Amino acid sequence: MTLSEVAHGVYAWIQPDGSWWINNAGAVHGGGDVVLIDTCATASRTHRFLGALADATDAAPIRVAVNTHFHGDHTFGNALLPASTVLIAHEQTRSEILADTMLTTTLPPIWSPVPDWGHSLTRAPTVVLRADLTLFAGNHRIDLRHPGHEAHTHGDVVAWLPQQRVLFTGDLLFHHVTPLVLQGSIAGALRSMDWLSQFPAVRIVPGHGPIIDEAELAEVLDAQARYYRLIQRTARAELAAGRTPLQAAGDCDLGEFAAWPDSQRIVLNLHRAYADAAGDTIDLLSAFTDAVTFNGGPFECSVNH
Ligand SMILES: [Zn+2]
Repeated sequence: MTLSEVAHGVYAWIQPDGSWWINNAGAVHGGGDVVLIDTCATASRTHRFLGALADATDAAPIRVAVNTHFHGDHTFGNALLPASTVLIAHEQTRSEILADTMLTTTLPPIWSPVPDWGHSLTRAPTVVLRADLTLFAGNHRIDLRHPGHEAHTHGDVVAWLPQQRVLFTGDLLFHHVTPLVLQGSIAGALRSMDWLSQFPAVRIVPGHGPIIDEAELAEVLDAQARYYRLIQRTARAELAAGRTPLQAAGDCDLGEFAAWPDSQRIVLNLHRAYADAAGDTIDLLSAFTDAVTFNGGPFECSVNH
């Protein structure tokens, strides 16, 4: 994992290989303060991130931390931040963090080895936004923006730095990692590719996977859009044929996407597409049970390293 300064005072924490629970995060350092963008899944990974950041910023205080969405790989480290740090996120993200019991319950055998979070304290944002909010770290302007609809989750927020033209996308964007839309909307996630393309960014920090340069962005967005369309096409045909999401996943040729880590997410994404088509809420346990069956056992997970 590396902390790279993608623009003056702007840091990306990149954790390879971006698979299950292994996220990217970031920070903006200016005027003697730090604005953090996401934490990590485990205590040990969050401590490593905060340690590297303290070294790079002469231990400047983290005044504000932003959560791009509620998923634990981006938020479980919240409780390890100083008590004085103000946490900000979309209002849906706050509700979703408060409703999430993953930190405090025994996990079913979905991942192997079972993630060791290192603590069990939930900490939710206390300042929320609905559409957008602008922050400053010294003179560095940070625009938090919600796409206006559900996508990866209901409360996705990007952090856009217009002066440096750096965009932190959270999990609206995965790079060479299979996207996951289990708790969002396939149609909304597809729409968000167009929304992201409107930012004139030169460096893009995705939620998972390597940093993206300006020249690569169009193809990364297009590849992810192609993946979402494959999910939509597959779900439409298989639903019409009376097949289940698990059967549909077995029928689906992933083609160019087969080499991306976490390819078994096809099952979870198809469950989402089926639920969207039926206007139903999703049954998370049955979606994960199907995905584990499809995978031939629990998903390999290296977050404890
Ligand atoms: Zn996520």
